[in-house]
Amino acid sequence: MVPSSPTLSVVIPLLNEEGNLERLHQKLTETLALVGQPYEIIFINDGSTDSSSEILESLFERDPVVQVIHFQQNFGKTAALTAGFRHSQGEIIITLDADLQDDPAEIPAMLAKLHEGYDLVAAWRYQRQDTVDKTLSSRVFNWAATTFSGIKLHDFNCGFKVYRRAVTEQMPLYSDFHRYIPVLAANQGFRITELPVQHHPRYSGISKYGNFGRAVRGTFDLITVLFLMKYLKHPLRLFGAGGLMMFGLGVIIELYLTGLWMLRALALAEIGPIGTRPLFTVGVLAMILGIQLFSIGLLGEMLRYFTYRPEQEYVIQEILKHNEPLRKSAETS
Ligand code: UDP
Ligand code: MG
Repeated sequence: MVPSSPTLSVVIPLLNEEGNLERLHQKLTETLALVGQPYEIIFINDGSTDSSSEILESLFERDPVVQVIHFQQNFGKTAALTAGFRHSQGEIIITLDADLQDDPAEIPAMLAKLHEGYDLVAAWRYQRQDTVDKTLSSRVFNWAATTFSGIKLHDFNCGFKVYRRAVTEQMPLYSDFHRYIPVLAANQGFRITELPVQHHPRYSGISKYGNFGRAVRGTFDLITVLFLMKYLKHPLRLFGAGGLMMFGLGVIIELYLTGLWMLRALALAEIGPIGTRPLFTVGVLAMILGIQLFSIGLLGEMLRYFTYRPEQEYVIQEILKHNEPLRKSAETS
């Protein structure tokens, strides 16, 4: 089917997947033919150094629905997904890994779930076919993501997802944020759900993600995402509140010590010098920290002021609007 205007866009980021591409394309084509809607397949070649590029070019020659985006070098899966989203045209976007761990045959079920009234369906690999360390680290990851974001999903980071176009259009994706796409989408008010799917061992090639580096980066990204989601709009509410409390604590401590100093000066009580007391240092430190935290909050507000873009402030679900120009009231009467 040649996509005059495709309703489905399949977006596939890949790095060195030469052994998988032909089979993936074949399976996708079989399934999408059954779905029976106009579609396009966009491969984003994220700096492959094997023969993936040649295979993609051959697919492009053979199949008019195939598009290929070659990156200049490896920019990472998040960047590849972003490029895919931006170049896609479909009303519904399907993302898949290239290694056939997820089965394209499950696309119809994922689409059916979306049509139940959701904006994003995430595949849940309920029986993961990966090494024990990967499965374990994924459990910790999903536990942390659910606990801290409050979004109840079993599997945040599966590459297999189905989206309504609007979800992909406003998503701030950088770093390795592809792991937190459901968190970002839920934060914008999109309806999210999951569907259990079969998971298979990699068909060919090796995994691109080492575990230790992944855990560290994943943790930093989670902190960033949660911070951005919760406090991006009001930095002073976070830092200002902490700052004021710190400063207040410092003031109380120093007032208390001043009181003691006065009692000592008036010789009303036998009290040692206050300048050498640890509490004195604690009080000063609390005041300085308080001012610093407050200033960071104000700096955050300044950043927000100078980077303000109206379209980032809201997500429109639908606009009801008449196409006719407004009539003058005399004509309507
Ligand atoms: N991938 C990518 N760029 C990268 C790393 C990975 O496009 O820098 C692709 C990879 O080719 C695959 C998908 O992202 O299509 C998921 O990677 P992988 O299967 O290695 O991850 P795992 O399933 O082992 O977590
Ligand atoms: Mg994989």
